[in-house]
Amino acid sequence: MRVVGLHRDVLVATSRIWQTTCTIVRRGDSRSGETATGSRTGECFVIDSPILPDELDVLAAVLEHAGFPPLSGLLATHADWDHLLARMAFPGAALGVAETTAARLTAEPGVAARELRAFDDEHYLDRESPLSLGQVQALPVPGHCAIGDGELELYPADGHTADGMAIWIEWARTLVCGDYLSPVEIPWISQGGSRDGYLATLRRLEALVERASHVVPGHGQVLDGVRAAAILREDVNYLAKLPDAELPLARRGPAQRAIHEANVERVRARS
Ligand SMILES: [Zn+2]
Repeated sequence: MRVVGLHRDVLVATSRIWQTTCTIVRRGDSRSGETATGSRTGECFVIDSPILPDELDVLAAVLEHAGFPPLSGLLATHADWDHLLARMAFPGAALGVAETTAARLTAEPGVAARELRAFDDEHYLDRESPLSLGQVQALPVPGHCAIGDGELELYPADGHTADGMAIWIEWARTLVCGDYLSPVEIPWISQGGSRDGYLATLRRLEALVERASHVVPGHGQVLDGVRAAAILREDVNYLAKLPDAELPLARRGPAQRAIHEANVERVRARS
C-alpha cells in the first residue's frame, strides 16, 4: 500500500489491488486552542478503504504516525463492497454515507459481506472476521459534514451506481469523487447506474475539478486539476457515444474492454 500526503491535513493510501484509494482527512479545532504545529486535537475521518488484510491492519498506525487526531468516523463514497472495508481497521467506528447509499445498504443487506467473501475465496485471503458495517448514519446530500472547526462538502454522485457522494475538502482544494474520473478505469455503468446519471454527475464535478489542486478517484493515482479535467472530457465523450464509443487510449486493456462490453449491453437494454 502506498501512502502519499496531499496537504498537511490529507493523506491518501492506495491499495495494491485495483488501486482502490482511501483518503484520510483531519481538521484541527481552533476553538480548543490548538497551535498551528498541531497537537492531536480536532477530528479525523477515513473515506473509503484499502482492500487487502495487511493494508487494513496498518491503517490505524498510519493515522497515528502522521500525528492525526483519533478517528471520529468513517465515510464511504458509495455502497460497492471494495470501498466499505475501513470498519475492519476501526471496529466500532460509525459509517457515514449519503442517504442514497444508506438506502442501498438497507435494500441489499449482506451483499457487501457476501461479495467480499467471494473475493477472498477466489484469492485465498484470510480475514479474522466477516465484514460488519455496524452503525450506518445517513447524511443529507447535498450537504455538509462537520470536522474540527471546518466542514466537508458533500455532493451527489450517482450514475456509476444508483447511490453515492463526492466529498470536497475546501481548505485543501481536494476532491474525493468515488468511482469517477479514474485514470485506470473507464466510466462503469454498473447495475443500478445509468448513463444520464453518470453524465449529470460529471457536469456537477466539473466546477469542483476546475478549482481542485488534487482529485482523488476511487481507483488510480491522485490527479491534479488539469489531468482530471482531461479525463472528465474523455469520459463525457465516451459516455455520449455509447454504444458505439471507442475506448480512451490509456484505458483499453482487457479489464476495460470487459467493462465496456457490459456498458454497451446496459445502454442497449435501456434504449
Ligand atoms: Zn470501486
